[in-house]
Amino acid sequence: MNEYQVIVVGGGAAGMMAAGQAARGGAKVLLLEKKERLGRKIAISGKGRCNITNVENVSDFISHYPGNGRFLHGILRDFDNVALREFFASYGVETKVERGGRVFPVSDDAEKIVDALVTFLKNKGVTIKSGIAVEEVLVENGQVIGVRGNGQRYLAPRVLICTGGSSYPATGSNGDGFRFARKLGHSVITPRPALVPLKTAEDWVKELQGLALRNVEASLWIGGKKQIAEFGEMLFTHFGVSGPIILTLSRQAGDALREGKQVELRINLKPALSAEQLDLRVQRDFQKYSNKQSKNALDDLLPQSLIPVLIRLSGINPEGVVHQISREERKSLVKLLQGLPLTITDTLSIETAIVTAGGISVKEINPKTMASKCVEGLYWAGEVVDVDGITGGYNLQAAFAMGYRAGQAAGNVVS
Ligand SMILES: Cc1cc2nc3c(=O)[nH]c(=O)nc-3n(C[C@H](O)[C@H](O)[C@H](O)COP(=O)(O)OP(=O)(O)OC[C@H]3O[C@@H](n4cnc5c(N)ncnc54)[C@H](O)[C@@H]3O)c2cc1C
Repeated sequence: MNEYQVIVVGGGAAGMMAAGQAARGGAKVLLLEKKERLGRKIAISGKGRCNITNVENVSDFISHYPGNGRFLHGILRDFDNVALREFFASYGVETKVERGGRVFPVSDDAEKIVDALVTFLKNKGVTIKSGIAVEEVLVENGQVIGVRGNGQRYLAPRVLICTGGSSYPATGSNGDGFRFARKLGHSVITPRPALVPLKTAEDWVKELQGLALRNVEASLWIGGKKQIAEFGEMLFTHFGVSGPIILTLSRQAGDALREGKQVELRINLKPALSAEQLDLRVQRDFQKYSNKQSKNALDDLLPQSLIPVLIRLSGINPEGVVHQISREERKSLVKLLQGLPLTITDTLSIETAIVTAGGISVKEINPKTMASKCVEGLYWAGEVVDVDGITGGYNLQAAFAMGYRAGQAAGNVVS
């Protein structure tokens, strides 16, 4: 007789939710976590505030997952954003809604989310062993029998793998699940960075390092064709660009670069104005500052650090006088203000990505149970699965919902 009926590998969002749910039905559950403490990625999520989900209507929710949203359809209906907020409220964590429908704990403290999940595990009687890195999933005659970690065997007829992706490996998720999967005969869709900053060919971004822009629109151009545009906040860095709208565009940009396509971003610094309105606005400013140096003509329109870059790129002499600026130079400036071009050369590495795209093929997972179609008694949940969402709380919601379903299914089978 095994000591445990269910073993969950990985104490992140998916694993903790799964372990607690499996134990709710009375199953004896063991949670194995590599790090000394559970939920290290949750603790750093949302800049330490943890954006757990989004208040988006559940019928529109799946459109926010460029990676296999349809697979999540029933999973998110079963454990949606309302259920998730109620779950945390029942453990004393009230939540609030911020811009873009993002949901955070009222305390702005991600550790409160981790604490609530740990209390849940303890209440349900889950045995937690931390500091144990699972090295192998044990299978006999196509049926899972347990795992091996730190030189010891842990046996159970159900094993849930919730080891996360390959991003931010210091939190413990370094791609172990993908290695297990390949050995177990699963197909792994190539893991790659999603929600990741982008590198640019243009050196002038260095001059703007640290500059954050709000209410701008970034559009992604692949092979000279406009694909998508995102409105919101972005940031210049010493290597290129980052910030919410850039992260959202990065998945498609990265995939196109890997296919050898030419990738460009165009930043519309004044998306609320038509080209004509902006031209009139620039003409008014030029009149107002007609006797000043060109480099001072845009003080009302742009953040200081952007001005010399735009003046230079539009061919205007920065030391010249404003009334000497030609019509062509002004037109070129207006064009740049609404389409500042950036050549994208690469993404940052997967280690620095917020999320890993790719993972265990959803074709080999039963969405009703999260059970493997390759190995009896094996389940997958969370970022290890080939599912990824945009920023705004979608990735944690997916991890919690997949964990909920896998835990319930594995717990039901044994109880
Ligand atoms: C900086 C940052 C900020 C983020 N902010 C947000 C946000 O605000 N909102 C949002 O929705 N998403 C956010 N995300 C994404 C979100 O945190 C993840 O998608 C989510 O945590 C995935 O949950 P998971 O349980 O699948 O994996 P993880 O949370 O990565 O958990 C996996 C666990 O498995 C353990 N493990 C791995 N291998 C083994 C092994 N061999 N043996 C034992 N244990 C193992 C790891 O140590 C880890 O604890 C952020 C991500 C990052 C990196």
